[in-house]
Amino acid sequence: MQQKPNIRIGYGFDVHRLEEGVPLWIGGVQIPSPHGAVGHSDADVLIHAICDALLGALALRDIGFHFSDQDPQFKGIDSKILLQRVYEMVQSKQFGIVNIDATVILETPKVNPHIEQMQKVLCPLLGLHPSELSIKATTHEKVDSFGEKRAIKAYAAALLYKL
Ligand code: MG
Repeated sequence: MQQKPNIRIGYGFDVHRLEEGVPLWIGGVQIPSPHGAVGHSDADVLIHAICDALLGALALRDIGFHFSDQDPQFKGIDSKILLQRVYEMVQSKQFGIVNIDATVILETPKVNPHIEQMQKVLCPLLGLHPSELSIKATTHEKVDSFGEKRAIKAYAAALLYKL
C-alpha cells in the first residue's frame, strides 16, 4: 500500500464577547480600544483559533480540553503561554509547522495596522518566518453581533509536516 504523505491540516475557530473597559488582546498584542474581549484567559481570539488549528491537525482535541475554563490556574492567563504549550505538544508528536493562515473578524478598531507586530510576537513562539504566518483582518459589515461590536471571532488553518 502506498504510504500517506507526512503532512496534516488543521482548522480552528474562536469567538469572544466584547465589553467596554476591558483590554483587547489579539495575536499577543494589546490594541488600544474602548472595548475588549471577555473570557477566562486574556480572551485572545486569534491565538485560540491558532491553538485549535494546531491541535486539530494532530487530532489532539481542542484548547478547552487541555486548558479548562473552569480551572483557576488559567484565569486571566496570557494566551501566548497556552500557544507555547500547544506548540510543545506538536513538537512532542515530531511535527513542525509549514504555515498558518488566519483571519480576524472585528468591526472596530482596525486590526491591519497591528498585524506586523502580531507576526513579530507569534513567529518566534512557533519557529516560523513572517512569510509563514499569514494574519488577515476584515469587518463584519456592521451586520449581526460582530458587526454591532458585541463580539470578535477568528479562523485559522495550519499545515504541519513530520519532522
Ligand atoms: Mg477563546
